[in-house]
Amino acid sequence: MKIKTRFAPSPTGYFHVGGARTALYSWLFARNLGGEFVLRIEDTDLERSTQPAIEAIMDGMNWLNLDWDEGLYFQTKRFDRYNEVIDDMLSHGTAYKCYCSKERLEMLREAQMARGEKPRYDGLCRDSHHHHAADEPCVVRFSNPQDGSVFFNDLIRGPIEFNNQELDDLIICRTDGSPTYNFCVVVDDYDMAITHVIRGEDHINNTPRQINILKAIGAPVPDYAHVSMILGDDGKKLSKRHGAVGVMQYRDDGFLPEALLNYLVRLGWSHGDQEIFSVDEMKRLFSLDSVSKSASVFNTEKLLWLNHHYINHLPADYVATHLVWHIEQQGIDTRTGPQLSELVKLLGTRCKTLKDIAASCHYFYEDFSEFDVDAAKKHLRPVAAPVLQAVHAKLAAIDEWTPASVHAAIEQTAEELQVGMVKVGMPLRVALTGTSQSPTLDVTVHAIGQSRSLARIDFALNFIAQRVQ
Ligand code: GLU
Repeated sequence: MKIKTRFAPSPTGYFHVGGARTALYSWLFARNLGGEFVLRIEDTDLERSTQPAIEAIMDGMNWLNLDWDEGLYFQTKRFDRYNEVIDDMLSHGTAYKCYCSKERLEMLREAQMARGEKPRYDGLCRDSHHHHAADEPCVVRFSNPQDGSVFFNDLIRGPIEFNNQELDDLIICRTDGSPTYNFCVVVDDYDMAITHVIRGEDHINNTPRQINILKAIGAPVPDYAHVSMILGDDGKKLSKRHGAVGVMQYRDDGFLPEALLNYLVRLGWSHGDQEIFSVDEMKRLFSLDSVSKSASVFNTEKLLWLNHHYINHLPADYVATHLVWHIEQQGIDTRTGPQLSELVKLLGTRCKTLKDIAASCHYFYEDFSEFDVDAAKKHLRPVAAPVLQAVHAKLAAIDEWTPASVHAAIEQTAEELQVGMVKVGMPLRVALTGTSQSPTLDVTVHAIGQSRSLARIDFALNFIAQRVQ
């Protein structure tokens, strides 16, 4: 049997981390077993589905590199097929037309509630032999089995059983002729030959209804796995209040897809006490057996830790491809400075996000007209002038501009002036970067370049001279 999973988001809100984790688990399950992964957009709720939400799903899936083998399907393009199945069910008696008025249903509901019963349709039209005109408005209801129970062995949560008496005769087609959500899911899972449905636990109550419909249309019943919720650090369901945002916001905030994927896979799944998983490792090791039944708590610090790890452990050339976007956001023209892969090596250890790297790299590419006030107060004082003049001369004399020759120039300056390296290093750092924070000085100076470094030292000397006046 060919394993086939699907991710079936409704494009009604933003594509959040919970959805991304469900997509990842479905994708990994298929990839682990050499199966196929289907992407299907459940857009039958015409009022709430939006084009930007569809685009956010596509952008997020593409950015995370969760590729699909089949689809993209849209439920709104499959209405003919749903209607065909509805007609078939009507003719086989597994569904029936219901002509009950809103008022009757409301009275029924109120009476049931008053008796402390769970409101459900009483099946009046199921057994009725009344004749109705062809154009009389009606809904179509599924004829749910009236006794027995629905049992399924959830691959994460274990055996689950629902009594059929608790299940309503679900409306599968509305008065306006549009098919309803649970029904479309069933027809799709059947037509797309889905073998494993992996989705959020908020769908557990839909599963017995869907299984009954699948059986009624003679479809095989897939295996189900319901993934637990993600909570915020206050124990409440993760939401915007916790700063939970759409997947692409993580890109905007400077995360690498590898970091988010690693974070999400561990949010509910484990393999011993291992924390770092490459995508290949995830594909090899993932199994539903090790997915937790309990809710997971979102922890931004851990995500930052993973991002820092990946910035420094993935090939710098690759990290640079993701850095480009952030550099563009900062409006930096990188043609006159170090290559982006170089920048990753220079700033990666100091920064937890690509956004931080982009925000703190300006001095490699652009001259500045002001120094950080505190740094200048401390390090660009008159005593620093002779030091800067001396190091200027040494740097100007370098024939072969390398980190080693820069290092030697700084060292010789300190030796000749008989001062510690710091006494040379700090004024030079502030002169070249405008701040007192930068990566190791020799590589920084080297990356800034010879003529630019000399010009900035002149600028700093000028600044000191003006301060003295
Ligand atoms: N469209 C549903 C949702 O976005 C998922 C349905 C399913 O996976 O069966 O919650």
